Amino acid sequence: MIQEILANLYRIEIPLPNNPLEALNAYVIKNSERNLIIDTGWDQKECMDAMQAGLRALGVDLRKTDFFITHLHADHLGLLSRLATETSTIYFNQPEAERIKSVNRWNDFVNFARMNGFPENELQSALHSHPGYKYGAKGDLSFRIVKEGDRVSIGDYVFKCVETPGHTKGHMCLYEPNKKIFAAGDHILSDITPTIQLWSDDWDPLKEYLESLEKVYKLDIEVVLPGHRGIIRNCKERIRELKDHHEKRLEEIVSILRKGSQNAFEVASQMSWDVIYEVWDTFPVSQKWFATGEAIAHLKYLEEKKKIKRKMEGQKIAFSLNPDH
Ligand SMILES: [Zn+2]
Repeated sequence: MIQEILANLYRIEIPLPNNPLEALNAYVIKNSERNLIIDTGWDQKECMDAMQAGLRALGVDLRKTDFFITHLHADHLGLLSRLATETSTIYFNQPEAERIKSVNRWNDFVNFARMNGFPENELQSALHSHPGYKYGAKGDLSFRIVKEGDRVSIGDYVFKCVETPGHTKGHMCLYEPNKKIFAAGDHILSDITPTIQLWSDDWDPLKEYLESLEKVYKLDIEVVLPGHRGIIRNCKERIRELKDHHEKRLEEIVSILRKGSQNAFEVASQMSWDVIYEVWDTFPVSQKWFATGEAIAHLKYLEEKKKIKRKMEGQKIAFSLNPDH
């Protein structure tokens, strides 16, 4: 499925089978010298087939193609190792270029989940069903590191890199100020909410996400090209909705903690989730994993704002309302 969005700018829909996201939007900018592809899909056959069919229909030669990857998640980066050629420049951010090389990445994940109450008997299956673990990029990739304000030019498109941490630590968008288009990755999505999760204790992703939303709110944008689902034309309205969503989430968590001290997994099990499963116990383990990550991110935000506090109960972290606040 190919859609022409603007002159020489196309969207190829890359299916993500059995995943609630349904598909990834890969954007292709065609030019006589070098083409640019923004985000790729998983390292999986269905994704590769869709990408190849799209590129063939558009007449794009991978030997004349560069890549910009918005963030490290496997649905955006996984297929890259199969698409990039020797001449490809791959634009990527510093924090995540380091992160994907970290050997302990998955071990750290599992330990952190355990400390946050994720059940011991479900930890391994959570890991093995994680898309990043299954469909992540293989092999060594070499990146051209870009940071805030750097330019990526392709034909008449002159994009500026915009750092938008939150969905991930190094998340980066591309802004074309003359054409007023914004390639948003998973920073702003239309009918689904970008997931904000925390899987290490060294940052406050929700705080950074809300700040990144503020930053993008100030830009003059007519068309948002999101990583999933439909194109967005009411950027400011969507940003207000996303901020509102997290405000409500934080209130929900505070009301859950009124019942007493709990770990993140227990909190997640009582939050409302927009999924097809009726009760928490029937959630697939991968959904429990994402829900727990979301709960941790919101708990961290409340903790940093001193609205709640943590204490260790054995090997696990428990959160409770801060009576002094
Ligand atoms: Zn993502």
